Amino acid sequence: SQIMSRGLPKQKPIEGVKQVIVVASGKGGVGKSTTAVNLALALAANDSSKAVGLLDVDVYGPSIPKMMNLKGNPELSQSNLMRPLLNYGIACMSMGFLVEETAPLVWRGLMVMSAIEKLLRQVDWGQLDYLVVDMPPGTGDVQLSVSQNVPISGAVIVSTPQDIALMDAHKGAEMFRKVHVPVLGLVQNMSVFQCPKCKHKTHIFGADGARRLARTLDLDILGDIPLHLNIREASDTGQPIVFSQPESDEKVTLQIT
Ligand code: ADP
Repeated sequence: SQIMSRGLPKQKPIEGVKQVIVVASGKGGVGKSTTAVNLALALAANDSSKAVGLLDVDVYGPSIPKMMNLKGNPELSQSNLMRPLLNYGIACMSMGFLVEETAPLVWRGLMVMSAIEKLLRQVDWGQLDYLVVDMPPGTGDVQLSVSQNVPISGAVIVSTPQDIALMDAHKGAEMFRKVHVPVLGLVQNMSVFQCPKCKHKTHIFGADGARRLARTLDLDILGDIPLHLNIREASDTGQPIVFSQPESDEKVTLQIT
């Protein structure tokens, strides 16, 4: 029966969490974490009655602590669950809170899986309307295991317009479809850089590859984010752009309802 149940994993909701939105990408470095952080902040800013959390399961390269300007060890609740750390009104949990920043994460599969189990099941989120999950890049064990263990309302896939990133994003979309997670759409990131001096626009990674992929897969484009110095600086200083420059003229609309 163990073998049977392995083939048919049971989904169990995360306690107190209404909607889980995962942010995924095929390739690393395309802006997945940046999107996850700013999506969480935007969901909270959009409707102040909504409680929003951010879960970083990018166990090999957790970026949420830095981007959300948080560090430290989570306290344990009376029932021995980890309490999320809070900044900008967002409850955050990350592998980065559990291990030293400089510790090499050359773990074997088993340890990664037990870390994932901890992050999914041993956090005291209280009551959340949305939990935004920053996935690791690619379509490996972690992504599959999260998708099979937790009911997910939808997946947002981030890609640059570059062919190699798009190919991997395509694989990501296929994986979610296989495990019956609705793909909400694609976010195209870093499609254009506008020179702040001469205003000339350059499509460094290509112009609209993600739009083409969206058409192929019959998916919506949820947003198109330019390559912009302010976005990088905001991330690096732990003051995400949605928080630090909510009125920026580089407007991006992510429609998630
Ligand atoms: P991923 O999670 O896909 O690995 P990140 O979100 O960590 O990618 O982004 C990688 C780097 O690129 C970070 O330093 C981030 O600040 C920067 N970055 C992401 N999107 C943009 C953008 N639109 N403009 C400028 N820098 C960006």
